Amino acid sequence: MTAKLKQHDPEIASAIANDLKRQQRNLLMIPSENYASEDVMEATGSVLANKYSEGYPGKRYYQGNEFADVVENAAIERAKRLFGAEHANVQPYSGSPANAAVFLAFLRPGDTFMGFELKCGGHLTHGSPVNFSGLIYSVVPYGVDEKTERLDMEEVRRLARERKPKLIISGSTAYPRQIDFKAFQEIAEEVGAIHLADMSHVSGLVAGGAHPSPFPFTDVVMTTTHKTLRGPRGAMILCKEKYAKQIDKAVFPGSQGGPHDHTTAGIAVALKEALEPGFRDYAHQVVANAKALAHALTEHGIRLVTGGTDNHLILIDLRPMGIGLGKQAAVALEAAGVITNCNTVPYDPSTPFKPSGVRIGTPSLTTRGMKEPEMRMIGEWMASVLKGMGDAQLQAQVRAKVEALCERFPIYEGLGK
Ligand SMILES: *Cc1c(COP(=O)(O)O)cnc(C)c1O
Repeated sequence: MTAKLKQHDPEIASAIANDLKRQQRNLLMIPSENYASEDVMEATGSVLANKYSEGYPGKRYYQGNEFADVVENAAIERAKRLFGAEHANVQPYSGSPANAAVFLAFLRPGDTFMGFELKCGGHLTHGSPVNFSGLIYSVVPYGVDEKTERLDMEEVRRLARERKPKLIISGSTAYPRQIDFKAFQEIAEEVGAIHLADMSHVSGLVAGGAHPSPFPFTDVVMTTTHKTLRGPRGAMILCKEKYAKQIDKAVFPGSQGGPHDHTTAGIAVALKEALEPGFRDYAHQVVANAKALAHALTEHGIRLVTGGTDNHLILIDLRPMGIGLGKQAAVALEAAGVITNCNTVPYDPSTPFKPSGVRIGTPSLTTRGMKEPEMRMIGEWMASVLKGMGDAQLQAQVRAKVEALCERFPIYEGLGK
């Protein structure tokens, strides 16, 4: 794949080859990452990257779009079929611009919306003060209950009644439990707000029937395409037909120029894969693996936020070992071949730069073919590294075991030869 590049640009070719090795030899446990298939990558790396296609299929501003139309129409049809959606826009460059487009469609600067607080598991674009969402609009944040660490839908309802937001976002980047999209929709309807379900993290689970779906009742649904959905980096906005025009206009020309046709092709391929029966097994295995891993970690004395998981994600709470240990723990795990990210835990007494948690997930490991027995081993290894955080010898021992395990579950066997 990189034979020519190796010759013409050895610096970049070797960085790519080295990252392939890194992806092969480590346990990638950042819950927002996954391994896209070689077919997805082939489509994404194709000549479609050369094309300009401003507009929508059949209504382009540039000539020469007959094949770009084939690709975008296929992606739209497949997205609608996979999720049972009335309308799909597959052009957003990524999740953050997609959320920006939805805000643009429904809000004016200064308008009020409700979003999940970053500290409790919301995304930056859900109203963080350093993000455009918090800078341009008036934000009413909702969090989780301090004791149960779960969303309290009665509290969300109370806030919505009191503050009358124009839009309510559901969805999360660090919440280990199911999101009750139906309850959010009901609350939004009660107060006359638009409900935006941001299912970026769980869209693959929704597609595979392993998480309750926000369809068909939700006004607008956004998802990234590169997380559990296992496509290329990108995003889609799915909505009720009555909002189709508003959404399309907000994406183009409202907030974007030409769509990335090569990404659209990769999305179309990923959606075809997600429509195959095997994807249901994948999605259910992701959750089964997360439960097995959570169980193993707990058994070995590690505290988890909410005590466990019912999706693909686990939030490790290191507060019992000390405040603000998240970064240190993630570095120790990396030395042992386990790639994670530090993360705040709800009501974290530390700062976002020195959080007290570590966020992990099972989408990538499950794509490799790992199942419950591997999760039990990994849980035990991770717990030992966390309990002996400064022990370099232990980290090296675990790393050797991790590498041996990774060899048994190869990825991209056709690449890097
Ligand atoms: C990942 C994510 C996004 C943003 O996606 P990017 O592609 O990184 O911009 C938005 N919302 C949620 C809930 C996410 O998990």
